[in-house]
Amino acid sequence: MNLEVQQIIDKAVDTHQLSHSELCYLLASDSSRAPLSVAADKVRQKYVGDAVHLRGIIEFSNHCQRNCRYCGLRKGNPNLKRYRMIPDEIYATALAACGRGYRTIVLQSGEDSYYDPEIVAWTVKRLKTLDLVVTLSCGERSYQDYLYWRKAGANRYLLKHETANPQLYSKLHPDMTFSNRKRCLMDLRELGYQVGSGCMVGLPGQTVETLAEDLLYLKELDVEMAGIGPFIPHPQTPLAGAVQGTVEMTLLMIALTRLLLPQAHLPSTTALSTIDLLGRQKALLCGANVIMPNVTPQPFRQFYEIYPNKDTNQGDNWDEVGSLVNSLGRTISHDHGHSPKQEFSSERRGEVNA
Ligand code: SF4
Repeated sequence: MNLEVQQIIDKAVDTHQLSHSELCYLLASDSSRAPLSVAADKVRQKYVGDAVHLRGIIEFSNHCQRNCRYCGLRKGNPNLKRYRMIPDEIYATALAACGRGYRTIVLQSGEDSYYDPEIVAWTVKRLKTLDLVVTLSCGERSYQDYLYWRKAGANRYLLKHETANPQLYSKLHPDMTFSNRKRCLMDLRELGYQVGSGCMVGLPGQTVETLAEDLLYLKELDVEMAGIGPFIPHPQTPLAGAVQGTVEMTLLMIALTRLLLPQAHLPSTTALSTIDLLGRQKALLCGANVIMPNVTPQPFRQFYEIYPNKDTNQGDNWDEVGSLVNSLGRTISHDHGHSPKQEFSSERRGEVNA
């Protein structure tokens, strides 16, 4: 046992604070993996319990006006068959998911201005009639759009920051800026959304120093949810030949996020289980407490290919996921799974103050 590693982990467990250099030290040390996962699992149990929350994702459009260099949905990929679900299809999908037990629906798309603020707000309102919590994940929009959707009843918004290093961010996102990403996240925070963000692990150009920046940015934002998954190169993107992120470093990042943000909801990401058949279980043992099964119907689902083989290893059936969770001595949550933070107590009581 490396004494210094254990001392830094003990400090994180007690204070939920670590410096940039302490984070770099843990990220670079082979001997930190086992004790970090043990500590993260204990912190997870203490702050968010043994329940695992299931969020059903509906990927309602794979059109995107952006050109992120790692993403298969990028505008510059001519080989992808594009689709849009109409509001009635989205509603029918949510209704079916609701019948299977889902209490949260995540409406996710590329950045697709075809869905104007009114269509999205109308869809949110229809889903709210089903007593569902609605998470939106539609990319960068104006303050006014975010306000409009919040007023329509949207509870949460997921917008990953991907990397908090501005230079690396610019290299990966040719038509976007990290300052606007931060502006969006601050707008969402100000409007009272439960905010989700997160990053990829193993991006070309990433270092332990930039990963530590990601963790400190999540801490600064004090997010209610953090999604952390490995970078998986897509063959129809400029990063086709890049090296894939590793399971080990992704698990390390999840564990550190749990220590820094004890009350956050942390999903065991789809990307992780795409590169490791046991990825879901491993993340749940390293601090994660959420699974986000894909409930997008066919024929659409196969075309939401952010990275290759996205749906290959995914058990998305409620019973199958339940068995996996039970096999770890954990339970499936049947409540709405709101943030345990005090400021969201009214939403936990079912009074959405949007
Ligand atoms: S990461 Fe999001 S914004 Fe970027 S190209 Fe993919 S879908 Fe579009």
